Amino acid sequence: MPELPEATTISSQLSPIIKGLTLNNIVIRKNNIIKNKHLLANLIGMKCSEVSNYGKMVYFRFSSYWVVFHLALTGYLVVDPPQDLYKYSVAEFLLDNNIVVFGAKRMFEKMIVYDSYPFDKYGPDFRTIKPVEFIKILSKSNRNIKIALMDQKTIAGIGNIYACEALFKAGISPTRNTRNITAQEYHKLYNSLVEIINFAIQKRGSTISDYIDAFGNKGEYQYYHKIYGKKICPNCSSKVKTIKIQERLTYFCPVCQK
Ligand SMILES: [Zn+2]
Repeated sequence: MPELPEATTISSQLSPIIKGLTLNNIVIRKNNIIKNKHLLANLIGMKCSEVSNYGKMVYFRFSSYWVVFHLALTGYLVVDPPQDLYKYSVAEFLLDNNIVVFGAKRMFEKMIVYDSYPFDKYGPDFRTIKPVEFIKILSKSNRNIKIALMDQKTIAGIGNIYACEALFKAGISPTRNTRNITAQEYHKLYNSLVEIINFAIQKRGSTISDYIDAFGNKGEYQYYHKIYGKKICPNCSSKVKTIKIQERLTYFCPVCQK
């Protein structure tokens, strides 16, 4: 959290407000989760040329500089926030008459400043890949499908919630090896991810605990989860099984998912 739908929600809300504005100042409240802080002084007076996200990471671009936010579990980026959201402020961006606050409650979050393209070390953003590429990337990785889906170096954007939901929709067990999944099943998984992610973006993401959008509001996709956090399968009424995969609680139906 956030995953692709939440990061896309935040960046698409912020973009029309702050793209093209001049960065007048950055106020730093907490130092320890900011990397390459020395580069920040170069950004003052520059126009924000792009606000977007690469997978789960939201970024602001200022010419050849990139400010990348890893929002982890409790991070937020809120424009002109109410007073209570200043409590966890890490950095405040003053862009003309607008303030964007980067806040973090648990401090697992990160803000990293780069002076060159920062996303080479990640796999392609899920939104940019076609089914053929999706199948090629995953089928060669020879490991558990859920681990492969959540590995940002393989494909960027998918985390625990949307991996659980998509595997359920596609009828694929999260414990399957990527090499034993058929092309037909991969197509189903790809289409499930597209549908789920698009609908989740429409609902401004899922708020399980702390996620809020760029206006400080909770998402609504959690009301549409079919398997994540559930006890009974909505398809067959079997008991939903939970297992830990890489320390993340994985929900699945042992009857519907093969
Ligand atoms: Zn079921």
